[in-house]
Amino acid sequence: MRAVSVHEDAIVVTSLFWQLNAVALRAGDEAMLIDSPYFPEELEMLPAVLAQSGFAPAALLATHADFDHLLGRAAFPELSLGVAESTMLRIRSEPGAAQRELRDHDSRFYVDRPRPLSLGTTQSLPVPGRLGLGDEELELHATGGHTADGMAVFAPWMGVLAVGDHLSPVEIPMISPGGSVADYRSTLAALAPVVERAETVVPGHGAVLDREAALRVLEEDVAYLDGLDALPPGRDSAEQRRIHQANLQAVAG
Ligand SMILES: [Zn+2]
Repeated sequence: MRAVSVHEDAIVVTSLFWQLNAVALRAGDEAMLIDSPYFPEELEMLPAVLAQSGFAPAALLATHADFDHLLGRAAFPELSLGVAESTMLRIRSEPGAAQRELRDHDSRFYVDRPRPLSLGTTQSLPVPGRLGLGDEELELHATGGHTADGMAVFAPWMGVLAVGDHLSPVEIPMISPGGSVADYRSTLAALAPVVERAETVVPGHGAVLDREAALRVLEEDVAYLDGLDALPPGRDSAEQRRIHQANLQAVAG
C-alpha cells in the first residue's frame, strides 16, 4: 500500500490490488475517507497511516456498491458509511452481493480475511447534493453507466475529485450489470465540467491524474464508447480485452 499526499488536505492511499485508490479529504480538523484498499493487512494498517498524517476520518464514503470500494468499515468498524441513494438501493436490492463477491475474489487470490465484510450503519445521501466537511462542503455528483449506482465526490476548495470507477487510466469503461453505454456517456458528459474545475482527479483504479490527463482519459473513453471497437491507447492489455468482450456481451443483452 502506498500513501501519497496530493494536496495538503488530501491523501491518496493505493492498494497493491488492482491499483485501487482510497482518498482521505480534510477540512480544518475533520477528515473523511472515500472508498478503501483491499488486502486485510492494508486495512489493518490504514487507521495508523491516516492518523499519522492527521487524516483520522470521522466518517466513510463509498463511490458505489462494488465490493472493492466498500471495505472501509473493515478498517474503521465504528464509523458509519455514507453512500448515494442509488447505492443504498443497490445494496438493499442485492443483499449479500458485495460480501459474496469479496469472498469469491478472496478465494481466487488466496486472501485470508479475519472476518467477513459487514456494512454496518449505512447512510443514504441525496445525490446530487452537498455534504459538510469541517467548514467546507463536498459536492456529490451522480455517476452511472459502470453500474446502476454511484457518485463522484468533489472538494471544490482544493480541486480534488474522486470519481469512482470512471476516468481510469488503467481500466477501460466497464459496463457491469445495471450499467449501460447511454448512462456511461451521460456520466462522462456530466463529469466533464466538474473535471474542468478540478486540479486533481482520483480514479477508483490507477494513477492520480491532473486536469489535462483526466480530460484526455475522458475523451478516450467517449471515443471508445462511440464504437465499442478500438481500445483506448495504453489500455489494450489482455485483461482490458476481456472486459471489452464482456462489454460487447452486455450491449448485445
Ligand atoms: Zn472498482
